[in-house]
Amino acid sequence: MEIKLDELLELRKTLHRNAELSGKEEKTSALIEEYLRKYQPDEFVEGIGGYGLAAIYDGESDGPTLLIRCDLDALPIPESIELGHASQSDGVSHKCGHDGHMTIVSGLAQGLHANRPAQGRVVLLYQPGEEVGKGAQWVLDDDKFSRITPDYVFALHNLPGFPVGQVVYREGVFASASKGLIVELMGETSHAAEPQKGKSPTMAVAQLINGFSAISQFHSALHEAAQVTVIHARVGERAFGTSPGYGNVMATLRSHSDEVMERISAKCEDMVKGLCNSWNLETKIQWDEIFPSTVNDDEMVRLIVEIADDLGLDKFEQPIPFPWSEDFGNFTDRYKGALFGLGAGENQPALHHPTYDFPDDLILTGVQLFEMIIKRLLSK
Ligand SMILES: [Zn+2]
Ligand SMILES: [Zn+2]
Repeated sequence: MEIKLDELLELRKTLHRNAELSGKEEKTSALIEEYLRKYQPDEFVEGIGGYGLAAIYDGESDGPTLLIRCDLDALPIPESIELGHASQSDGVSHKCGHDGHMTIVSGLAQGLHANRPAQGRVVLLYQPGEEVGKGAQWVLDDDKFSRITPDYVFALHNLPGFPVGQVVYREGVFASASKGLIVELMGETSHAAEPQKGKSPTMAVAQLINGFSAISQFHSALHEAAQVTVIHARVGERAFGTSPGYGNVMATLRSHSDEVMERISAKCEDMVKGLCNSWNLETKIQWDEIFPSTVNDDEMVRLIVEIADDLGLDKFEQPIPFPWSEDFGNFTDRYKGALFGLGAGENQPALHHPTYDFPDDLILTGVQLFEMIIKRLLSK
């Protein structure tokens, strides 16, 4: 079936104009539903995991459920380029190309409406809250997900820095695990003339900055990727007369494997507790934006490679896992599937760069790739 590209280009622009932050994708979700109604899915699952939406297309007979996921959310980055379809949302824009991902997945509705899969079901899932690492879990934790429970799961991410339309794949770990650590240290203020009378967190903060930065040196082997990046620290107030009574340190932890992540997380916590003992401080430790690593199923990756060959697409085997994270890992943890990349052009700005805009050239390629996956897994 011929894909109506004009319609998809228009959809991408509409989504781009209406960019919304993670967990607040109300309008985006409604726009998608309005578009999909024309292509009459058998069922909509609305409000899944927040503003998530699933459109289900039943096949001609029973069989496996194939879930294809895209992401609804934009970023707290102001639009900084002149675009006819510039974001109308103050300080919020699609700088990760999720507008393009949604457009590709919506393009599948055209073909599914015309030709149902021979067996099983296709679930088009529009997931909220990807950028904060929570949305996949929100969807999985929602009771409504029991109506979906997939056998196979697939998603793609556009990748600037790779040639346009190149299929980027990797067996095993595709994207890294990451986690945000927030450490608060509570002591007691005193007059700056008498620091000995208070409980200052200053030395503990300084030692945590050093200690966290050295975690990989002492707690991971050379072949194990582990990274702790201190992203924020503070002690006390801007007051010369006061020795501080409060401090905090924030860091981002990354690793290729969830096992290494567990180990370095525990080491960070031990370090905080040890320093609190030494300096007589109370502490509160919180973890935020927790992304597991995205681990692909080897057979599903080989399927993508075969399809790329059949479509005559350029392909690239990514030698090491990507350092960034994707919460699609929550799906591949439970179900057989894969995340793959689609090159967005070598000279494109990076993802999350203020001048990024999803290249429309990728839309047809993305639709074709997913259509072939559907065909291969759901034909008899
Ligand atoms: Zn992003
Ligand atoms: Zn993204």
